[in-house]
Amino acid sequence: MKKLATLFMIMALAAITAKSALAGDTLAEAKKKGVLVVGCKDSLPPFGYIDEKSRQIVGYDIDFVNAIAKKMGVKVELKPVTSASRMPQLQEGHIDIIAATMTKNAERAKVIDFSHTYFFTGQKFITKKGSVKSLKDLDGKRIGTAKGSTSEQNVKKAIPTATVLSFDDYPQAFLALQQGKVAAVTTDEAILAGILAKAPNKAQFEIPNLQISDEPYGLGMRKGDTNFVNFVNKTILEMEKNGEAAKIFDKWFGPNTQFHLQRNFKITAGK
Ligand code: GLU
Repeated sequence: MKKLATLFMIMALAAITAKSALAGDTLAEAKKKGVLVVGCKDSLPPFGYIDEKSRQIVGYDIDFVNAIAKKMGVKVELKPVTSASRMPQLQEGHIDIIAATMTKNAERAKVIDFSHTYFFTGQKFITKKGSVKSLKDLDGKRIGTAKGSTSEQNVKKAIPTATVLSFDDYPQAFLALQQGKVAAVTTDEAILAGILAKAPNKAQFEIPNLQISDEPYGLGMRKGDTNFVNFVNKTILEMEKNGEAAKIFDKWFGPNTQFHLQRNFKITAGK
């Protein structure tokens, strides 16, 4: 009887340990390893893309995680992810944090935790110039986007008659538009602006002023990884206060860049 009780106690202890290992403490573990493994995009300027000269992945998302890792005193290891692979990669422990144009929403927040909003944009379309004046013009048309994105879900709701073609990432969807296989590509305006800026035949395309959603970006962390979530939030609030966050925004979206966006948000606790 005593033996059985001990066995139960061991089993209960093992279960507790397994559970805490699952949530883990990324802050402590990354410090111990000396490295923070980041899931990022590698073909979406100016968020995460390969710089032609250095052959390194650079961008707005990367600068945020670099600042966080610097504060932790660790190196950053970048691992490219897609919209569909980023949450499983995080949950399976292949990455420690998602910094990959990711919108925070209630559905995703059931599975992972998010930082405060560190970027704010909204969903629009790229089309052939002059072809789309209102959403009605896209009725019954083929529209390209990325698998596993909010863009995919939003467009299905906004234009139920359209056929949505989902690619691994947005550059492939844009190729389909260039080849005339879709009538539009839809995702966040800031991503579309980046794709258009790099397109060789950009004069043929435009981003009509048709917005179908708000897209606040958060850094994604494992559910219950509380120490790390608190540390990341504290760091990005500090970056807002000391001007570093606005400086990163200006570097990628300011008046001397190809994108020229207004900074229409501030990093705030609770958002
Ligand atoms: N921000 C949207 C999302 O998280 C679209 C961009 C993306 O697919 O990363 O789904």
